[in-house]
Amino acid sequence: MKYMKVNPGFLLFFILLGAINFIAQATNPKVIAHRGFWRADGSAQNSIRSLVKADSIGCYASELDIWMTADSVLVVNHDADINGVIIETSPAKDVLAQKLVNGENVSTLDAYLAEASKLPIRLVCEIKTHNNREGEKEAIKKILELVDKYDLSNKVDYITFSKDGFKNFIKLSPPSANVYYLEGDYIPAQILFEGGKGIDYHINVLKQYPEWIEESHELGLLVNVWTVDKEEDMEWCIDHGVDFITTNEPEKLQSLINKR
Ligand code: MG
Repeated sequence: MKYMKVNPGFLLFFILLGAINFIAQATNPKVIAHRGFWRADGSAQNSIRSLVKADSIGCYASELDIWMTADSVLVVNHDADINGVIIETSPAKDVLAQKLVNGENVSTLDAYLAEASKLPIRLVCEIKTHNNREGEKEAIKKILELVDKYDLSNKVDYITFSKDGFKNFIKLSPPSANVYYLEGDYIPAQILFEGGKGIDYHINVLKQYPEWIEESHELGLLVNVWTVDKEEDMEWCIDHGVDFITTNEPEKLQSLINKR
């Protein structure tokens, strides 16, 4: 039997090449579709189709916004109102009758999570800042219950602009839950002190304080950034080593990362 002679130099070269490739892949940021992949055909922001579409192109996660109706039903929508129906002060039957621009009805969080539980994609759940402060706390408890109901606790991260919401998510969720803060007015050390998983700040905040990226990493925190749609900003975020990029242009970001 003949054996091929392998030059040890060649072998070392290929091992190194593999290692470099692995490190490059490991350091590339993960792509999060902002309000789902809503620019896809037949999609709409925060629609179930936007979630399915984000999954279909292999996004790491899909972001969604959550409000609670006057009768304590969680629904998925960005604005405080939909077609003029104010979610916080309206009964679910009025809110859920509203159509999104793609013809879907506004979804309950329950239906949204039921769909997500069939897909590999992760979720980034944003609780919106409610006028009713106690209502917001109740909404957080209900979000956690629903995530538990669908056994999704290992696939969901939580984000919020609300300082109370940030603290309540940390207090009420299991210790393994990942909670990020959006407002941009906490230094990384404060996030660590509060028990957060990391910062999730606007691109302009990170450009103003780029040192917060490295500071976060030194503290063991992760860095997400929103909402990054311009190619030059995507390049800046990749070059600065952020962990996640939240974008309305997930395909553009994916192809940029793949070209590197
Ligand atoms: Mg959001």
